[in-house]
Amino acid sequence: MKVFKFGGASVKDAAGLQNVANILQRYKNEPLVIIVSAMGKNTNALEAVLAAHVKQNGEAQALYDAVKESHYAILRELFDANDDIFTSVNDTFVEGEWVLEETPADNYDYMYDQLVSVGELVSSKILAAFLQKSGLHTQWLDARDVVATDNTYREGWVIWDKTKANAQRLVPPMLEKGGFVVTQGFIGSTSENFTTTLGREGSDYSAAIFSHCLDAESMTIWKDVPGVLNADPRLFENVTKLDRISYREAIEMTYYGASVIHPKTIKPLQNKNIPLYVKSFIDPDGPGTEISSDNEELYPPIIVVEKNQALLHISTLDYSFVAEQHMARLFRIAADLRIFVNSMQNTAISFTICVPNIPDRLEKFINSVSDEFKVKLETGLELITIRHYTEETIASLKKGKMVLFEERIQNTLQMVVKNIPLIERREVDIPSRKD
Ligand code: ADP
Ligand code: ASP
Ligand code: MG
Repeated sequence: MKVFKFGGASVKDAAGLQNVANILQRYKNEPLVIIVSAMGKNTNALEAVLAAHVKQNGEAQALYDAVKESHYAILRELFDANDDIFTSVNDTFVEGEWVLEETPADNYDYMYDQLVSVGELVSSKILAAFLQKSGLHTQWLDARDVVATDNTYREGWVIWDKTKANAQRLVPPMLEKGGFVVTQGFIGSTSENFTTTLGREGSDYSAAIFSHCLDAESMTIWKDVPGVLNADPRLFENVTKLDRISYREAIEMTYYGASVIHPKTIKPLQNKNIPLYVKSFIDPDGPGTEISSDNEELYPPIIVVEKNQALLHISTLDYSFVAEQHMARLFRIAADLRIFVNSMQNTAISFTICVPNIPDRLEKFINSVSDEFKVKLETGLELITIRHYTEETIASLKKGKMVLFEERIQNTLQMVVKNIPLIERREVDIPSRKD
């Protein structure tokens, strides 16, 4: 069997669902487990519903009604008015409404998972019903019956042995009946049957969990790009598709922030040597990118940009050297506050880390270490990572930027930069000597 994953962009409207059905017609006779995300930007929209509910500003219900209506509009385009799918989708929306009936307390992350998971539940119900209606025999599976997690809401940790047992018990009998199994990305459940989510953009990871547990022959993620490119096409022109990359390269790229694949996706696949294909749902005949075993290839420069970064310049108050026990304390506090250190450098009495700029967490960090350290915070920065760098690529990426921090390790260069204001870098003729 194979695992396919369709992200939010591929099912953002009725035409998108029709396109997915057209792609799947080509696989009519294959056993497929299909993982689907929430449609379009509905995860963001559901987050906004919860934010309004927590603020108790009276807007939550109207925002939730808008999410519901956008789904019903798609249903009306695809199904007859009396189709059972309307009731089935409505039942799921009612479960979300229960969350809005509770008074928000100290359980934000828990409420988040119960409400935001509705996006994946309804999209998978709609896709399954639409495939069935299109003549592709399809069964719907609740991913919460398979993906077992601890109760870290919003970042559920997978309990692998339980998940594997669930997958192997539930999925093969469904596939044996023929046709497809459609299930949700992003969600799982605790041992008390509460819904968890696996972290934003986690549907790629869900597909890898299913692939690993079911020993899939391959996994394919269908995206709005021709494959994995050597830079984010939203930020760069003249990008090149990578035809094949190793698991190792993919894990490095995603670790540094290449958002085309969720960073947790690669390990479960690599561990079972399951190839991952990244293909375009806009051009399904295109060759895409294959990610597989670690024969190192010759790579062009690969660029990853992480925006909204901060530098914390930490120095000891008493001029003592930054030693191991200081670092141990600093890292423990960062880990407790879930501050992810992207890069670091130290001198005798100072230590600099590059972290995502999450103001409330950074403020807590600075307060917690102020007894021993002075901390200077610098924000509005970008972290640029270049794998397989060339001097030409570095020079072109530095144009118009001030480099605050740079490090080269083997074939990876990282630099933290800020834009030089236009006024400071107005280009003028360089005076040339007359003698
Ligand atoms: P999904 O719909 O599956 O959630 P995403 O939007 O998360 O898809 O991922 C696809 C997007 O990732 C692309 O539209 C592209 O803008 C972005 N992206 C960032 N880096 C890369 C890269 N190196 N190669 C291809 N796409 C990239
Ligand atoms: N719908 C979730 C999100 O937007 C999961 C995913 O799309 O991968 O984060
Ligand atoms: Mg995504």
